[in-house]
Amino acid sequence: MCSYTCTTSMSESESEIRCSGNDSKFYTDAETYWRNVTPTVDGMLGGFAKISPADIDGSKAFLRPFLKISGGKTNNGRALDCGSGIGRITKRLLLPMFQTVDMVDVNPNFLEQAKSFVGEESSRIDKVICSGLQHFSPEPGQYDVIWCQWVLGHLFDDDFVSFFRRCQIGLAPNGLICVKDNMASGKEKDFDKEDSCYTRPLPDYVQLFKKSGLTIVKQQKQKGFPKGLYDVYMFALK
Ligand code: SAH
Repeated sequence: MCSYTCTTSMSESESEIRCSGNDSKFYTDAETYWRNVTPTVDGMLGGFAKISPADIDGSKAFLRPFLKISGGKTNNGRALDCGSGIGRITKRLLLPMFQTVDMVDVNPNFLEQAKSFVGEESSRIDKVICSGLQHFSPEPGQYDVIWCQWVLGHLFDDDFVSFFRRCQIGLAPNGLICVKDNMASGKEKDFDKEDSCYTRPLPDYVQLFKKSGLTIVKQQKQKGFPKGLYDVYMFALK
């Protein structure tokens, strides 16, 4: 059973609500952490709201060449924002590039804020799904892009792999999975007890993508972030 009320939907006719089940402490600790975070851009970015414009610009430049409208193969129909929070990426990256965006996050408070945070363009948000990614299965053949940013550290390796196997089923023809995340600089993954999150080194990502049956078609380091933060990499996967 869900430990809170999962309610949110933008278009009531097609709403879909899922709840997380009996998760281990690793998952419930993360939920508890995020439940106490304010639903703002600063909250989403752990106090680093100022990096959001550079982040979004980097993502746009990374993603744009894949889209048909820029000479690539990927349609601009429907995107999925995984671990969307209040919709920072939905609003600034995905809605400007795709006709429709769906959101999935474990925290219902963030999803409830999405409509007002995104504003006018929120009419193009369709499904808003309250679920841990470890339990979530996208519907087959739906998504031109599945975007996962700053959330995969909240999954155990085996859940990471099975999530990405399910995501491949969720892709439309010529669809792409994109991952953007912090990379640990050492050989081991770092664990942060406070938010119950792993920061994996880059080779761990490469190995997990391979295990998931995915091929890296583009990989790029985000430029222009302040010194002292983890390196951030973007991957496009097929
Ligand atoms: N991707 C967004 C939010 C990053 S904050 C952005 O870049 O702005 C991390 C988000 O992951 C939070 O919204 C948190 O609720 C969500 N989250 C944490 N664990 C999760 C899980 N297991 N499944 C889905 N979402 C999760």
